[in-house]
Amino acid sequence: MSQLTFEQRDIRWNGVRSACAAIDDALARLPETTGVEQELRARWAELIEALALEPARVLRVCPTCKRVGMIEATRCGHCWAKLVVPESVASPA
Ligand SMILES: [Zn+2]
Repeated sequence: MSQLTFEQRDIRWNGVRSACAAIDDALARLPETTGVEQELRARWAELIEALALEPARVLRVCPTCKRVGMIEATRCGHCWAKLVVPESVASPA
């Protein structure tokens, strides 16, 4: 299996977050009539806990090589250019 790039992994996890949010929304609208719905909700809650999804990472584009990296990085992970961490990230209000 080929290795995924940083950007590909992030896109994939954003897809998982989006799918989970859509299922949450659908479950919230599901009428409780047979009891199966309660079991489905309970199993879904177990799955979400097991996945332990973190919030989506905040990314930025490197001004030197134009590739994507984490906003907290002090060096680009691709070209090693020195990066300035935005003040809002370095010392959040
Ligand atoms: Zn770079």
